[in-house]
Amino acid sequence: NPYLCNMSEHPILEQETIVALATASGNGAIAVIRLSGKDAIVITNQVFRGKDLLKQPSHTLHFGTIRDGQEIIDEVLVSLFVGPNSYTKENVVEISTHNSKYIIERVMSLLIKKGARAAKAGEFTLRAFLNGGMDLSQAEAVADLIASNSAASHQIAMQQMRGGFSNQLKKLRDDLIHFASLIELELDFSEEDVEFANRDQLKSLIKEINQVVSKLISSFEQGNVLKNGVPVVIAGKPNVGKSTLLNALLNEERAIVSDIAGTTRDTIEDEINIKGITFRFIDTAGIRETIDVIEAKGVERTREKMKQARLIIYLFDPTQDQVQDIQNQITEVSVLNIPFVTIINKADLLTQEQKLHYELLKPLYISAKEQIGVEELKDELLAQVNLANLNTDDVLVTNIRHVEALQHTRSSLERVLYGIDNPVTSDFLAMDIRQSLYHLGEITGSVSTDDLLDNIFSKFCIGK
Ligand code: GDP
Repeated sequence: NPYLCNMSEHPILEQETIVALATASGNGAIAVIRLSGKDAIVITNQVFRGKDLLKQPSHTLHFGTIRDGQEIIDEVLVSLFVGPNSYTKENVVEISTHNSKYIIERVMSLLIKKGARAAKAGEFTLRAFLNGGMDLSQAEAVADLIASNSAASHQIAMQQMRGGFSNQLKKLRDDLIHFASLIELELDFSEEDVEFANRDQLKSLIKEINQVVSKLISSFEQGNVLKNGVPVVIAGKPNVGKSTLLNALLNEERAIVSDIAGTTRDTIEDEINIKGITFRFIDTAGIRETIDVIEAKGVERTREKMKQARLIIYLFDPTQDQVQDIQNQITEVSVLNIPFVTIINKADLLTQEQKLHYELLKPLYISAKEQIGVEELKDELLAQVNLANLNTDDVLVTNIRHVEALQHTRSSLERVLYGIDNPVTSDFLAMDIRQSLYHLGEITGSVSTDDLLDNIFSKFCIGK
């Protein structure tokens, strides 16, 4: 069947055994060196002194030493996974050593001397994909999972790795393949004007696929926000307190993070995490230099900045701005059609009576300096993006490659629908169906090119 073939045949996996450090280099108690390939166990067995690994069952753990000749390099634990019951579907060995740069280098070069080869970036996961352990979108989710830094991005990656939308797409694609072969068959009988493929059934299948595809496409924006964070701009005239607020938001986050005993997390510049949702502040360098985003650089530039945002925090200083002026600025922002929160800062300087002047604007009163109202502001940010009660069980697409393939799929499906309803010959119909199948297959990797695979897996770290 022409649809089931890969674009280019991947060479049957050479039986080379690959090796890489699977844990991050740096401080830590233990390092894990991973091997995969036909000879993974044989090679390890040559340098391991303990039980004969060749005689041990899969999924067992063994204590022993790694030796270079008579020299003991380390005491280690070896985990055995006999293919196909492993991540890569090949024989896999994981050697847990003490985490010393010296030990790791010695063990690695010993294994390489015995016949293993240093793995390329993402090569373990590439093998898992090529050996049918997972499809392409699942392999990509492995990278996302490792990169995930919030509850939401973690959940999306986890769901995609476990099958997510690819199972659904795979089934629909198989159904479509069935129709495709019937239509191809019609081509062989083109003289006789027969229809093997029931057009009504084909049409309802295409509509079903289109619905799924469209829903996935529209989930992209939401998925993207969850994965990469909500881009936020803090706007307002000079000295309204933008950088004070930014620091209040960021510092508090850092304090919370370092409070958790034993966690060492790289603090990500200019991001905060509120109830699992990441908010990313745009152009904070500009804020810190207190460049006036409203006036100095011109309205155009301000707009460009604000347009990148999904949410704007607009700050006013009641000791400087008149109510009318504030109203004018609000009108200007409203044109952008991006949700914004109106903030009266420096509320510590206002009396209750003075606050009454601003009631019409329905602002949030805060004091960035005294850290009053910051929690309420956070709640408001969450409410504005309306993601708090997001059902993360919904399948979300977060990968730009997937959404592009889905868009191409939708265009070709629409041509198929047009073809069914209009006097279009079977060969054109067949061509459009073939295209839909091609683009659907791109997502799961049923269709893939070496370039595409290189592109995806080279972004992985070595050892993944
Ligand atoms: P930016 O130019 O908008 O970034 O403003 P800054 O954050 O640099 O703040 C300008 C001045 O306003 C500084 O002297 C801050 O200490 C002061 N400021 C900021 N927030 C508050 C506040 O809530 N209350 C008071 N009283 N002063 C504030």
